Formats: sequence, structure tokens, C-alpha cells
Amino acid sequence: RETPKSDAKAPKPQRRTVKLTHPDRLYWPDEGITKEGLADFYADVWRLMAPYVVGRPLALLRCPSGIKGERFFQKHAWKGLNPNIVTVPDPADPSEEPWVSINDLDGMMGLVQSAALEVHPWGSTVADWERPDIIILDLDPGEDVPWQAVIDAAQEVRQRLVDAGLNPFVKTSGGKGLHVVAPLKPSSEWPEIKAFTKSLAEAMAADSPDRFVATITKSKRHGKILVDYLRNQRGQTAVAPYSTRARPGAAVSTPITWEELEPGIGPAYFTVSNLPARLAAMRADPWADFRAAAVPLGKGKKRRGKGT
Ligand code: ATP
Ligand code: MN
Ligand code: MN
Repeated sequence: RETPKSDAKAPKPQRRTVKLTHPDRLYWPDEGITKEGLADFYADVWRLMAPYVVGRPLALLRCPSGIKGERFFQKHAWKGLNPNIVTVPDPADPSEEPWVSINDLDGMMGLVQSAALEVHPWGSTVADWERPDIIILDLDPGEDVPWQAVIDAAQEVRQRLVDAGLNPFVKTSGGKGLHVVAPLKPSSEWPEIKAFTKSLAEAMAADSPDRFVATITKSKRHGKILVDYLRNQRGQTAVAPYSTRARPGAAVSTPITWEELEPGIGPAYFTVSNLPARLAAMRADPWADFRAAAVPLGKGKKRRGKGT
């Protein structure tokens, strides 16, 4: 796949051809967003979203009757799978039900048809299940944490990742927090990736115990930010860039630039309704350099600094 040049024009919506049944079904009833409206949204963002969802095992939050109905988090293929969705058996667990994956916009339309209102990919691809090409630190503010403190936390994660030789990017979660994400050249396997993110989160909690926690002790989280590193283990997922959230407001987990990270943009600021206008007005993909910025864990700046 081509990495968009930083002077690339806003991507053109791609034509969608997969036929939807019940296109008028309301997925976000209060916002008036239908199945067809969601399909149009994904056609709009597809060129930006594709690198983060194509060719990966996917977990899906499915809401067949929309966000107010029953929901289930689905990690495996199901009977009657939409033909545009593919199945990928886990090489480490071939007797288990396969995961689902998509290869193109038609696959994304299959997910829309299947009421997958949130798309949660692995941090590795089916070409290399054991070696992630993405690291993610998920910042989960407890109650009463001011938004500026979450921004400060993201900047601190950014600095620590830069110090480790990585090139971090940031996106809104579409929920309550921020996700700091760094591209990797697949090299280290899951246990090493997890250990790295664990030590990063624990160092933040040790250095600022009044601001951060690294483990999920809800009672201790009040007023603090959980630096959730547990997305970085085999079989775990995080919501994809440009995925919608099955929550009121139809927010979207949205890649932004570090310059955009200021109090005016909250975690659910970008939505199915306002994101197309942002993309149309945008001069460049805020994550244009994402893949080009990939380095293997442990082989970045620090090592170059030693003259290797
Ligand atoms: P927020 O900003 O509100 O925290 P988030 O997407 O980061 O939004 P989290 O609760 O921090 O939400 O992260 C949960 C992650 O765990 C999801 O991104 C998802 O990939 C994964 N997950 C695992 N099991 C489930 C489940 N049963 N339901 C929802 N998510 C699940
Ligand atoms: Mn989170
Ligand atoms: Mn979390």
C-alpha cells in the first residue's frame, strides 16, 4: 500500500458497491444515523482507515438493533458470515474458531451490514501474527480528571516513546481518553512488546503516583489516569483509527496531529457527523507518515546514539 504523501489532497470517497439490506435501519437513533449513513461514512474515510484494519484479525462490537439494543463483543467468525468478510485461523490455535478479517472496502461494508459498530484490530497482521507492527498506550482517566491532565499524560507518553527511539502518534478514543500509538517494524514478539509497555506504564506511575496508575484498581483510580498497557498482548485489541463508537453521539476514534492536541478537542469531539467536513478541509492526513516512521523496538535513537 502507498503511504500518502504529506502534500496529498484530502482522500476522495471511494465508491461502495456492496448492497445493504435494510439500509434505513437506525444504528444511532438519536443522531439519525442509519446503516446506509454508516456505509457512506466508511466509504469517505476508507483510504485513511484501510492501513489500520486491512489484513488484521478483528474483534467486533456488534449491535444488530443499534446502540440502544443488545450488543456483543465478537472475537471469532460466526455462522452466515457476510461473504465480503474473510476468516483467518490463528496459526497458534488452528482448532479454535477462526478470527474475522477484511481485505478491502467491500469487507468494511460487510462489517457495516453485520452491525459491527466498533472495529477492534490486533496490533499485528495476519502476515506476521507474533510480531506487532503497532504499540498502543491507552490513557483512561478516572473520574474528576481534568482533560488537560489527559493531554499532559499523552505528551509524557510521547516523550518516553521518543526516548525509546519510537515515533508516536495520537488519536482520540471516541470515548473518554486518548490513545498514543507508535508504528513498529515487526521484529519483537508479543511478550517483549508487552514487557516494554508495562515498564513504561509502571515508570510513569512510579514517577508520578498522584497522577498515574498502571494497573486496573478502580478504587485507586479516582482522580488518576490509568496508563493501560494491556492492549499490547497477543489476542488483545484496541479500537481502530476511524472506527465509530457504539455510544451516544456517534463519536469516532480520530487520528490528530500533536499540534491539534489542545483542550478544545475532547475525546469524543469528532463524530460520524462532523468528520467528513474535517477530512474535506484537511490539507494532509494527520498520520501521513505513520508507516514510514516505523522502527523496530529497541533499535531506535538510543542505539544510534551509541554509534551503531
Ligand atoms: P475510552 O476512551 O472510553 O477508554 P477505549 O476504546 O480506550 O475508550 P477501554 O475500555 O479503555 O476503551 O478499552 C477497552 C478495550 O478492550 C477495547 O478497545 C477493546 O479492544 C478491548 N476489549 C476487550 N474485551 C472487550 C469487551 N468485552 N467489550 C469491549 N471492549 C473489549
Ligand atoms: Mn481507553
Ligand atoms: Mn483501557
